[in-house]
Amino acid sequence: MKKLLPICVWLFSLLVLASCAETSVVNKSNNSQTCNIGAVRLTADFEASRMDECINLGNNNFVITIKPENTPINPSPWYAFKVVADTPIDITVNIKISGKRDNRYLPKFSQDMKTWSVYPHQYRNKKLILKIKASTQPLYIAGQEIISNQYYIDWAKKLQKSSQISHQQLGISQLGRPIYKIESHSDSKEWLVILGRLHPPEVTGALALFPFVETLLANNPFADSFRQKYNLLIIPNLNPDGVAMGNWRHNANGVDLNRDWITFKQPETKQVHQYLQSLVASGQKIKFAIDFHSTQHDVFYTMPVDYGVESRYFVKHWLGALDKAMPNFDVVQKPGNRPNNGVSKQYFADNYQVHAITYEMGDETNRDSIKIIANNAAVLLMKTLMSETDHNKE
Ligand SMILES: [Zn+2]
Repeated sequence: MKKLLPICVWLFSLLVLASCAETSVVNKSNNSQTCNIGAVRLTADFEASRMDECINLGNNNFVITIKPENTPINPSPWYAFKVVADTPIDITVNIKISGKRDNRYLPKFSQDMKTWSVYPHQYRNKKLILKIKASTQPLYIAGQEIISNQYYIDWAKKLQKSSQISHQQLGISQLGRPIYKIESHSDSKEWLVILGRLHPPEVTGALALFPFVETLLANNPFADSFRQKYNLLIIPNLNPDGVAMGNWRHNANGVDLNRDWITFKQPETKQVHQYLQSLVASGQKIKFAIDFHSTQHDVFYTMPVDYGVESRYFVKHWLGALDKAMPNFDVVQKPGNRPNNGVSKQYFADNYQVHAITYEMGDETNRDSIKIIANNAAVLLMKTLMSETDHNKE
């Protein structure tokens, strides 16, 4: 995180500007709530914030209720709000998830929106209880680190300074937000596709995507020669509406974007599909795809070796090498075939006859470990793709 965040002092002001600008384009969801008792204010009025209800119980006790954008939903309750007081004061905040659902994310806090840590808390009767010393210095509390839409833009611009990449708009979201693509393009016709943030709260997936992509785009002879052989298409933030609205999982239409890769009813997935189709129609080839997500633990969902995709043992060779290179990290591979589910990895296998994986980082996996795993995974992916090994043989 630290390496990625030197620009955050002015990023925050940009964020404020961006969220102001957005109100003219879209109506923010009804999660913009506040508990304002004059001296103490709990607010959810910034991008990615979420606090569906806030009740002041008196005696500096507050209850925040978090609700899903719609149901049914795979529960991933997201919350993000700001606490500020005119003079230092001790308050208690209870966070309740509607429908008696379980909490998923340990609360994190930050004062500057760049350094985040787990906030001390208790979990009782399905309620998170936080004792907070509120002060004039705003305190941000959220399920995970807040990685806003603007953060991705700034990250890509920073990459552009050191790498031969293009950063362009691929399309627009349901609510008119730009969806960006980053490309590294040589004379090669083969493409590696990287997707991220289909599910807004899955921030550890984003924390893996950043170093993974940075390693692929590094300035060293090995990565340079890799990029001569393989083009990169990176769509790091496919659900900008969901991110801005603080959604638990869905896009602005209330649809899970990782269940839409058959029917393409959503503009976000449809535009990626159309773009990939246009690449193929112009003689390009999709070689492999990775979709970054988060879940309770670290796991790599893969396609089975007997599924009929090319280089059938390629992913096994790659992840096997990662397992060997990292004795302290258990590389869990879960091959699966879910033909009618609409998940992205199946889409790549079915439409392009190539491997694809869902790269899942645990919600609470150590942030430094996420980076180390991603660096190693990217280096070994390049090595595996560049090696002379026959990936049709185990
Ligand atoms: Zn996910």
